[in-house]
Amino acid sequence: MLIVASDQERVEVELQAGRLACPPCGGELRPWGHGRWRVLRRRAGGQDHLRVRRARCRACLVTQTLLPEVSLLRRLDDIETIGAALEANGAGRGHRRIAAQLGRPEDTVRGWLRAFRSGAEAIRAHFTRWAHALDPLLGPIPPAGDAVADALSAIGEATRAAVLRFGPRPPWRLVSRLSGGVLLCNASRPFPAVP
Ligand SMILES: [Zn+2]
Repeated sequence: MLIVASDQERVEVELQAGRLACPPCGGELRPWGHGRWRVLRRRAGGQDHLRVRRARCRACLVTQTLLPEVSLLRRLDDIETIGAALEANGAGRGHRRIAAQLGRPEDTVRGWLRAFRSGAEAIRAHFTRWAHALDPLLGPIPPAGDAVADALSAIGEATRAAVLRFGPRPPWRLVSRLSGGVLLCNASRPFPAVP
């Protein structure tokens, strides 16, 4: 899987021009059909209909899914919504209150928080690696109190380092990108290797 910018037209241009590289081998990706249309509920309100683009590597022949950075794999809500829920939970709010604030079903929000909690240690380790890869001068990240707080703290450091390196970007989109779209997938889909 490859996470790409949310602008589908630009991604299409880059794909057609051979400017997208295969994550495992660096080979040139070529267009290889589309996934199904799906709905993505937006934090700002309303919903988008999007279709993931598939591509195949010329060198290793592996097919890749081009997932937009506004979304996470197998989640109906955009990363801004899910990120807001995770932040609110980190600030001590429970899933019912967060669900009411975001206008989402309680079960859905509870599912995000549970997935984040059970994957917290792997999330912390992955984003800590990213933080140090992006900012080699960064010292150890101090413990924040519990596994969820530690994971959020590592995410904060990694996004801060990415913004310093690449310029301002919406932080939760960076999180989606750095996670390879599998932030909440846990063991079913491991994180992509950090370069
Ligand atoms: Zn390849």
